[in-house]
Amino acid sequence: MSTNAPVLLITGASRGIGAATARLAALRGWDVAVNYARDAAAAEAVAETVRGAGRRAITVVADVADEAAVLAMFQRIDHELGRLGGLVNNAGIVDLKARLDQMDLARWQRLWAVNITGSLLCAREAVRRMSTRHGGVGGAIVNLSSVAARLGAPAMYVDYAASKGAIDTFTQGLAQEVAAEGIRVNAVRPGIIDTDIHAASGDRHRPQAAAAMIPMQRPGSADEVAAAIVWLLSAEASYTTGAILDVGGGR
Ligand code: NAP
Repeated sequence: MSTNAPVLLITGASRGIGAATARLAALRGWDVAVNYARDAAAAEAVAETVRGAGRRAITVVADVADEAAVLAMFQRIDHELGRLGGLVNNAGIVDLKARLDQMDLARWQRLWAVNITGSLLCAREAVRRMSTRHGGVGGAIVNLSSVAARLGAPAMYVDYAASKGAIDTFTQGLAQEVAAEGIRVNAVRPGIIDTDIHAASGDRHRPQAAAAMIPMQRPGSADEVAAAIVWLLSAEASYTTGAILDVGGGR
């Protein structure tokens, strides 16, 4: 079944920034495909919130680093929600705080696979559906970078920072590649945001502990990042493409 509402895929939408984006996008009139990797119950709760706002929602399990799973995810969206109008490449991971000389290859391969390859795979499938070159009617893509791409995250996770640097470059290149095909491509660079991701670095309390080094003296919330993402997706940002918007409290 399809309606006139635009359809948005948000990867990693079962919690954190992705979940906040799903909730706000529904209020702004998007139907939402809620992708997740492991936590089906959390994804379903987000989908219920979207439905509560009067919009359609489905949950779609897929590891964004798995090409077959990504292809199946897009096919389900085609069949169950209809024409895709937006993509938020939000799924992303960090690993334990470490120096480069303590890291192993397996860690990097997983980071690149989820943070870089996952974003490129999903963007490719979105372009195949949204580009006027392929018979689409256009759309918008927002990639999740990080202020770590600028700062490098020394003695924390330079590998993660490098993966987000790749996202910045990808955003600028793809934006130009598809600008004449009706697709806008932008990125948001969050600073330290209060979500579960910090537990994976071994420092669950990092947002609060880091407050003093943030010019605004506090971590950001997932809702504050979602507001920037949903604006970049919207018609209000109709002349904005290739932009990388810092949402970092001045950091
Ligand atoms: P989070 O709270 O850890 O949530 C991550 C989400 O991604 C979850 O829904 C998780 O699903 C999903 N996910 C993880 N691996 C996946 C995979 N391989 N395939 C599909 N989904 C996957 O993260 P967050 O803090 O909201 O971060 C969202 C994005 O913002 C990330 O790209 C992150 O790098 C970026 N960012 C965050 C911060 C920050 O301080 N929080 C700062 C800068 C940038 P399951 O629950 O099912 O595993």
